[in-house]
Amino acid sequence: MKKILHLDVNSYFATLEQQAYPSLRGKPIGVAGKGKGERTVVAGASIEAKKFGVKSGMSSWEAKRLCPKIIIIEADYDRYIFTSKRIFNIMERFGPKVDIFSIDEAFLDLYDDMSWDEAIIIAKRLKQAIRREIGEWVSCSVGISYGKTLAKLASEMQKPDGLTVIRPEDFAKIAAVTPIEELCGIGFRLHPRLNRMGINTIAELGSMPCEMLTATFGEYTGTWLHNIGNGRDSNILHSWRSLPQEKSIGHSYTLPQDIANPSDVKKVLLLLCERVGARMRQKNLAGKTVSLYLRFGDRTGFDESRNQKRFLRSGYDVYLAAENLLHEISSLQPVRLVAVTVSDLTSWENLSAPLFVEEQRQEALNSQVHSLNRRYGEFTVFRGALAAIKKRIHKLPDGRNKRLYLPQITEINPFTKRV
Ligand SMILES: [Mg+2]
Repeated sequence: MKKILHLDVNSYFATLEQQAYPSLRGKPIGVAGKGKGERTVVAGASIEAKKFGVKSGMSSWEAKRLCPKIIIIEADYDRYIFTSKRIFNIMERFGPKVDIFSIDEAFLDLYDDMSWDEAIIIAKRLKQAIRREIGEWVSCSVGISYGKTLAKLASEMQKPDGLTVIRPEDFAKIAAVTPIEELCGIGFRLHPRLNRMGINTIAELGSMPCEMLTATFGEYTGTWLHNIGNGRDSNILHSWRSLPQEKSIGHSYTLPQDIANPSDVKKVLLLLCERVGARMRQKNLAGKTVSLYLRFGDRTGFDESRNQKRFLRSGYDVYLAAENLLHEISSLQPVRLVAVTVSDLTSWENLSAPLFVEEQRQEALNSQVHSLNRRYGEFTVFRGALAAIKKRIHKLPDGRNKRLYLPQITEINPFTKRV
């Protein structure tokens, strides 16, 4: 039977600050993003601050009201991400596969033939290794089970510094007393709806007929709910080595003046798509969903996404997909902003080599263009249609030059869906 371990570092951001600055240990601290004074948001609170009810997502002002002695520290995300990678690297020494869940949480695949007792020994060694290598103040909660949802549930049962196991024979006992909202995947939307159906515990969820759940929540969610209610859990892990680090790649551009001519809009779109393509290539990524967002002069917008039949690798392919979306607009109003995003990313290693001659030719061309641009700067080599944009910008009446035009394109944050 498969054994999966879930690890969650306790109060991650605050713990790392306390590790780095021993004078903060044992004190209530809040880690907040950049901003002015009390308008910042707490991204993480120390165990000491949590006792006062301070939670992440609160404003610093609210946190200070609950806990007047709280020390607010500016977040240093680069350092937190760097430390995460070190933690995931340590985990990798204890099993064949690490599947990252968040910045401070990951699943570890343990070897199949391992007994539950051996799994517990591995978990203890892993916890010790993290203390030894990351810092003595850094503790984590670990859960072990035969599926991911249950392993995560187990790690949350004991905080801080916990180690909990849910074996198949433990499931019924735990299901009878555990509220459904403790299960990862039952969020603020599903939770009240299930409660209204009279389902409060995991066991109650399991006793619900599958047909009733699928009729209410759809095939996918309904089946998942029925399965997890009966202790049937997914045990498929995706190694972080084969997954892209980013969820999407996008670019947006606010035009110096509204444009109404569809062929001008297409040129801007092509420019943005080439940028997206350049970044996908840089990171060896391909994407399957293309989203187009337009904001019009009157502040209304057009927002459409479409799944493609195959993974797209080049900027031009992204452009063709985005152009199709553009055609769905019945009457194009003057456009103020154009944004294009590619999501559903995968790395190239997961794709088969281009099959058809035309694709191969295109692929060879793309990679040449890419290496030229890498050597001589972006947009040294670009498609014919882009030349027209450069010229057009040259002629702007206010004297703006092309150099001003290109860098204004802004990168869309890969961790948010929209501009
Ligand atoms: Mg945590």
